[in-house]
Amino acid sequence: MAITKEIKQYQNLINGRLLTSSDDRTMDAINPATGDVWAKIPLSTIEDVDAAVTAARTAFPKWAALSAGERAEYLRRIANVLDTYGQELAELETKDNGWVIRETIYGLIPVLKQIWYDAAGAASVASRGETVPLGPTSFGYTIREPLGVVLGIIPWNAPLFTFTLKAAYALAAGNTVIIKPSELAAVGSLRYGEILAEILPPGVLNVISGLGSEIGDSLVAHKGVNRVSLTGSGRTARAIVQSTARDPKPLTLELGGKSPNIVFEDADLNKAAEGITTNGIFTGNAGQICVGGSRILIQQSIFDEMLTLMKAKTLEPLKLGDTMDFTSTMGPIANQAQYEKVCSYIDLGVQEGGKIIFGGRYGGEVLLPGQPQFSNGYWVEPTLIQVDKNSYRICQEEIFGPVAVVIPFETEEEAIEIANDTAYGLGAGVWTTNLGRAQRMIKSLESGNVWVNTYRRVGVELPFGGFKESGFGKDSILENTREKACVIEIG
Ligand code: NAD
Repeated sequence: MAITKEIKQYQNLINGRLLTSSDDRTMDAINPATGDVWAKIPLSTIEDVDAAVTAARTAFPKWAALSAGERAEYLRRIANVLDTYGQELAELETKDNGWVIRETIYGLIPVLKQIWYDAAGAASVASRGETVPLGPTSFGYTIREPLGVVLGIIPWNAPLFTFTLKAAYALAAGNTVIIKPSELAAVGSLRYGEILAEILPPGVLNVISGLGSEIGDSLVAHKGVNRVSLTGSGRTARAIVQSTARDPKPLTLELGGKSPNIVFEDADLNKAAEGITTNGIFTGNAGQICVGGSRILIQQSIFDEMLTLMKAKTLEPLKLGDTMDFTSTMGPIANQAQYEKVCSYIDLGVQEGGKIIFGGRYGGEVLLPGQPQFSNGYWVEPTLIQVDKNSYRICQEEIFGPVAVVIPFETEEEAIEIANDTAYGLGAGVWTTNLGRAQRMIKSLESGNVWVNTYRRVGVELPFGGFKESGFGKDSILENTREKACVIEIG
């Protein structure tokens, strides 16, 4: 493995200070485009966990006692500082997980700003309650309070977005926060923490990187942590549920998906073909997106026409390559383990009897010939596999890469049955010009997010979360509070 010249060591943020781990252990950060080591991150210990929790607990009373307006002012300053540091953070995200620069700079950073502003606006509603008449002599009302210390556990596919979603609303509601980024893409989060420490009082936000297997359990089960919000896999969610079984605390679990994207014969086929391919699954971070529309359902009467359109809409604009080049449209798989998983699913799809409509190849040498700097990168081309039924493993298991299956259906009822025949329930897309059908589909689909004639349109003003094995709860302002019922006897 080649080693790039400048290897910067990033640090944890604990109580406003930048620190190495207590035993100085580090882990290499790998650029997935090249396979090169480009930075180092701390591998935190149980002592670091205790220090972060102590810092967050100590900072909590003062932070919670600020008025909503004062907290909002801090959050607006964070939003504004992204004008200065947004480009740097976007570049770190791109090196960290291979998400192409044109999307991290122009797509991601503006959304982070919107989240901080939205959270600042929401701060004033976080403590609001209701008055509840209880008869002539009893005055009933509710108030909302912050929970205390909120732990945000972050995946590797969209670290800065997830960090922001978990930190912004928790802070707005008066909680203090610990962020635990994925060991597979922690650099952006560590630098983000460093930048935010210039604005927030010490201990209000802490960031510690490390292995889930080493510090995950002690963070989650720590008595000083009052709420846990995970974005990650079902496996980790089950471990967290077990860790908190003895000493329960509020959980938000944002997990995986196997989202259907359904095209009816009455749809605008050109628009649909683009929405279900380039935008739906074959995106700048190579389909490593929880709501990726990885099961494409097409009505039989338009099936062949749609295959042709989908191929054109995917391959014509496609440019794999240097993730820091603004003309590149899709990057690599974010890490080696995920790369091996995605490749094995492509092979499995063929073994199961699937027919490759386009794509199917992987490897830097194959996909980027003549560019030896990318030979050891984790490259997979957009791949569409036609299957005749939804029971194949490639239709049921989350692949989390630029790989989708396409399945024909005859009727609306059949489309609903196939769409809901999954353990997951995160996203669903419907393409139709029939308003009645759109309404029926919205009601019938077992999914936390349903898009009609668009896909992946996530507004910061809308709640986001899944059903079934895609998890429960939302990273909203109210889920970062607890509600207290109060009665004052005035008779
Ligand atoms: P992962 O579950 O392997 O890791 C997520 C985080 O959990 C990492 O920080 C990891 O270190 C930590 N972790 C691991 N074991 C732990 C334990 N026992 N206790 C506490 N923390 C532990 O997930 P990943 O591979 O990083 O991310 C990919 C998954 O995330 C996919 O399934 C994807 O669908 C899902 N995801 C969901 C959403 C959503 O909003 N629903 C968004 C992005 C990603």
